[in-house]
Amino acid sequence: MLKISLSVAMPERLNTSLSNFLIRKDRQEDLTFALWTPSQGNSRLTALIHTIIFPEAGDRQVHGNASFNPDYFEKVCAIALREGCGIAFLHSHPGAGWQGMSEDDILAERKIAGAVAALTDLPLVGMTIGSDGTWSARMWQHVGGREYRREWCQSVRIVGIGLKADFNDDLMPKPVYREQFKRSITVWGKDNHQNLARLKIGIIGLGSVGSIVAETLARMGMQFISLIDYDEIQPHNLDRLLGATEADLGKLKIEVAKRQFEHSATAERTDIASTPHSLAEEEGYRAALDCDVIFSCVDRPRARHILNHFAYSHLIPVVDGGIEVRFDKNKRFTGVDWQLQTVAPGRPCLACLGTYNLTDVNLEESGKLDDPSYMKGLPPDHRHKNNENVFPFSTNLASLEVLQLIALATGVGGISDFGIQRYRYIPGNIEVDVERKCKDGCDCQELEGHGDRNFSLCGRDIGAEKARERQRQREKIL
Ligand SMILES: [Zn+2]
Ligand SMILES: [Zn+2]
Repeated sequence: MLKISLSVAMPERLNTSLSNFLIRKDRQEDLTFALWTPSQGNSRLTALIHTIIFPEAGDRQVHGNASFNPDYFEKVCAIALREGCGIAFLHSHPGAGWQGMSEDDILAERKIAGAVAALTDLPLVGMTIGSDGTWSARMWQHVGGREYRREWCQSVRIVGIGLKADFNDDLMPKPVYREQFKRSITVWGKDNHQNLARLKIGIIGLGSVGSIVAETLARMGMQFISLIDYDEIQPHNLDRLLGATEADLGKLKIEVAKRQFEHSATAERTDIASTPHSLAEEEGYRAALDCDVIFSCVDRPRARHILNHFAYSHLIPVVDGGIEVRFDKNKRFTGVDWQLQTVAPGRPCLACLGTYNLTDVNLEESGKLDDPSYMKGLPPDHRHKNNENVFPFSTNLASLEVLQLIALATGVGGISDFGIQRYRYIPGNIEVDVERKCKDGCDCQELEGHGDRNFSLCGRDIGAEKARERQRQREKIL
């Protein structure tokens, strides 16, 4: 049976309200309830916390060991039922770090686990915050009859301008120090290394930028990587694909990227998932939902649209970049820009930044971008045909993207957000924009933490189906 791991994620601004309320100046414990929505990956269930239902006067007693009154619990149940959401019970402890549970904690959660599961069809999520703001979390799984068993989550992720992951050290052990990490650790410190190395990192698109991002992460000691791409290697890829040679022609890009990652990894153990599907297809979609952070290395409108949805609705930050080469009428090179940004709650979204538009998403969904006769009819300088690129453009963009991940996940040097960075070949500088916000009427903030509750973007991908057909034909010939 597939091992399903568990995690919890919440937007930064919710974490701020919760810690302000639960971590009391008088050092007493306190409690509250919240609502959550499931985010179901291939091998992980994440509880996305999106709504807090704070106790009102008379809802609970604070007396060292806080307890709630039945009326409060009933009110929470009624709201959860009306909204179709799961229930989380959150309380605070006076100690620091990942918190265990007292006998009283276990009794209190076990007592309501059955009612919550029966009512919402989702397990009760229990969470504890320590005095230093570290969260711990568990889910109460039904094991038969009236029995519920506590299962610990691997991590609790706070997502926004930063990405803070609190790990359960028993389920996600800290990587043991190796000489290979010495120089990296000197730069950003042991704690940052241990946190970075435990993140599950997705790379969508293993073309030039994706293959270089993968190499960089392997050298940095990352352990958990998910590679998603349906494409195979063709001769015109070989001038930009790190690790690939002529002997790899016809192989899947993820296959070569996996081999290269294992080859360059400095981590003692690696866990690499590779998915030969499109992000839009169920297999790719669910593989991406297993990740804590995703690199968007595919220059397609539909993938950006889905990743934008993941960044807010599923609370998975996305580091996105794109390269735009320009030519004059005579096909002479006149310049190139590459732009990158990290999208997550509290940051402007990919749609508002104009990195894709819905007309193009629909065009791609209809299969037009993979239809040679349609593409042939477009003018030669059309944006759907603009895919010129060379290795040094990709290496620079890939490096800047990984630096955005480091800032996001560590805040080392006191910076978590570089804003939107745009390298301009002419005159040769990087412009930074930290002022941009989502446009009026953008609903991404409202969708934060709601998962696929309102809509799912998963379906067929004609481009991926054509690629697999092409690969099958090639295998037959060989
Ligand atoms: Zn407790
Ligand atoms: Zn927006």
